[in-house]
Amino acid sequence: MDKVRLGRTGLVVTRMGWGGIPIQRVGEQEAVSVIRAVVDMGVDLLDTARAYTDSEHKIGLALREVERPVVLSSKSQIRTAKIYDDVHESLKQLQVAKVHIYHLHNISKQEEYEQVMAPGGGYEGLQRARDEGLIDHIAISSHSLDVLERVVGEGHFDVIMACYSFLEPDAAKKVFPLARAKDIGVLTMKALSGGVIEEAGPALRYVFAEEGIVPIPGSETLERARENWKIFMEGGALTERDKERIEAIRKEFDRVFCRRCDYCQPCSEKISIQFLIGLKSTIKRFGNQVQELKWMKEMIEKARNCSECGECMTRCPYQLPIPDLIKKNLAWYDSLMNQ
Ligand code: SF4
Ligand code: SF4
Repeated sequence: MDKVRLGRTGLVVTRMGWGGIPIQRVGEQEAVSVIRAVVDMGVDLLDTARAYTDSEHKIGLALREVERPVVLSSKSQIRTAKIYDDVHESLKQLQVAKVHIYHLHNISKQEEYEQVMAPGGGYEGLQRARDEGLIDHIAISSHSLDVLERVVGEGHFDVIMACYSFLEPDAAKKVFPLARAKDIGVLTMKALSGGVIEEAGPALRYVFAEEGIVPIPGSETLERARENWKIFMEGGALTERDKERIEAIRKEFDRVFCRRCDYCQPCSEKISIQFLIGLKSTIKRFGNQVQELKWMKEMIEKARNCSECGECMTRCPYQLPIPDLIKKNLAWYDSLMNQ
């Protein structure tokens, strides 16, 4: 089986991990059978986060009867040394004495990075957890390549997690070579660009073609888990048809796909632009829970105040027609709610 050494952690894992976002959408029993099947197939790195509602809990239940050793990776969005308490909560939910890799979750702004690295910041909290043997390796996940470039350059972290897909390919040039040179392990997320790409074949073959990284496509059904595994095991380069589909999908999402970089901020109406542009995949991710999520409703209502001032568009490096995309997504949301 295709294995990779995760940088200086020394961990050697299957070159396809598994991401715990999608199992939030299914019941406990189904989640447990998917997770067990994934581990039986040969996946040996499971990634989750405190922020993924009951994902850690479901993994904990599933692993109670799994003999095979599995590398666990989790994350917390706490930015101060209090993250130490979240590590304890992760251990409790996952029902383990140790999490191998623990991330500062979604550090996507330079100020956030400075905050977590400052005295009393999240990095200090994770050092304490590592010193006490609660975690093995300190990691960081980010949607910003600028932040990751700095992180890798400064070299404090054993593992990084970056977005990487054929719609977001830049990490391959901007971050991976430097990470390799510094012997930092690389996990990659969003192989299907957060649900934007619907064809698993070209998307996964594209990310598997990059050596030395561990993509972590998630799955909430056995069918999807098996499909991903089959694509992984077949290996092989991109087919001619894959290349055509990639070209076509890139064209389709040109001037539509948001890279979540936040360069368009600040918005005078305090609208979370990337959230609004990615609304469809977020709603897909949360399924029926959407109706109960107050924070989500508030963000959607705030977006109705968009004055179409166009300030954000002047700052978006990808020239996205932001106010139009917001309007379109709000109309889509309203029609969904009225069904
Ligand atoms: S166009 Fe709308 S989203 Fe963009 S800055 Fe103006 S108010 Fe904010
Ligand atoms: S709209 Fe543009 S600038 Fe804003 S987060 Fe998306 S890609 Fe980045």
